[in-house]
Amino acid sequence: MEDYLSQQNGGGTKTYYFAGGCFWGTEKKFSELKGVFETKVGYMGGSLKNPTYEQVSKGNTGHVETVLVKSNLSLKKLLQSFFSFHDYTSLDHQGPDIGPQYRAVFFYQGKNQLKIFQNFVKKYKNVKTKAYPVKEFYVAEDYHQMYSFQKPCKSLKTEDKQVFQKICKNNTKKAELKNYGKYLHNKDKGIYYCSCCGNELYHSKNQYDSGSGWPAFSKSFDESHLLYNPNNDELRCSSCGLHLGHRTFDGPTSTKIHDCINSVCLYFKKKKQKGGGSTKKLPHRKNIRNEKLEVCSKKPMTGYYRDGYCMTGPDDLGTHTVCAKMDKKFLQYTKKKGNDLSSVVKPGQKWCLCENRWNQAFLDGKSPKVVRGATNMRTKKSIQKNMRKSRVNVVTRKKKKGGGKTKKQFLYNPDDPKKSFDVYIDKNPKDTIPRFYEN
Ligand SMILES: [Zn+2]
Repeated sequence: MEDYLSQQNGGGTKTYYFAGGCFWGTEKKFSELKGVFETKVGYMGGSLKNPTYEQVSKGNTGHVETVLVKSNLSLKKLLQSFFSFHDYTSLDHQGPDIGPQYRAVFFYQGKNQLKIFQNFVKKYKNVKTKAYPVKEFYVAEDYHQMYSFQKPCKSLKTEDKQVFQKICKNNTKKAELKNYGKYLHNKDKGIYYCSCCGNELYHSKNQYDSGSGWPAFSKSFDESHLLYNPNNDELRCSSCGLHLGHRTFDGPTSTKIHDCINSVCLYFKKKKQKGGGSTKKLPHRKNIRNEKLEVCSKKPMTGYYRDGYCMTGPDDLGTHTVCAKMDKKFLQYTKKKGNDLSSVVKPGQKWCLCENRWNQAFLDGKSPKVVRGATNMRTKKSIQKNMRKSRVNVVTRKKKKGGGKTKKQFLYNPDDPKKSFDVYIDKNPKDTIPRFYEN
């Protein structure tokens, strides 16, 4: 999926916003264009934050039903297509849909796009379609995304094409036969993908036997990869719109999620075993300094994996956790955020944090100190970048005070000379601090 997308997206992919009446039809038209990689329906133009479909449909919020289009086509090409399927001579009226929420609009980003639009419409007469500056785009409810259509399958991988056509395509209610699917009792470890587009849908570790006769999952690979319609419980693939199955809330975990999925709409890929061994040793127990990973905390027992490492499980390797030293400021902050940690952990103690939580605290200026020796090297780049930023601030502040203990040195990066940077070296060479390259 990733390879396919990055190949397809190339370098020049941009995001555009068009409104041309009911967003279901506009989305369908754009998603059929070759060179369009992603579409989403939503609301734009009003001032109400996070509007719902119900609010927008009243026609008095100022929002317009809008489609986000990610494409590497030129704006002119996209406008050509847009003008071929919407009625540009009509102001607040497209087909059967009447009201300002159905106004035809091109939301431009920057003067250049506005110019292109103005030049483009010169050859048309009586154009009522507006050009407005882009505003915040609010993604519409799941069940509006790719409503009533599905993308064609580029590389279909299914156990039974006939059943696939009947169940996964052109259907929202029926299911494959009970106790029929190939993956019902699958015991292998790996990932389940959408059989139509290759979108990651479920991890085998979240599969369980619900006794219903269909593959069941208690957690999705990523909720943004699914479209869930609470009105009819339907689950679809967010990338191609394929019907997958239904969600109920009688599952075995605390979320109660029970995704009942047709085996025929899935494609399973077994996880490759490194070295053929069956017991998996954690291969990346290294910290972000590329040394052996320290235990984050056993006292108190860490918030995540129960052997003291910052992980959510043995497969996770700490890719989204951060070992941090708690301080008063941060604990007070968690209280304010409605997720009080101060009853579990005391200032000075170490604790695993979700990296999103640390990043949020960083943005608010309340982030606790990261214990680098106990934070896994696989932690995402975003937190490492933010960590560097915070260290740079500290060091420059010290320097201005005339501390004089740190020494500046230029470090050349042979892999990417543009990313060469200055470092400040103090007593411990491990504490060298990369600075952002300034050009
Ligand atoms: Zn799909």
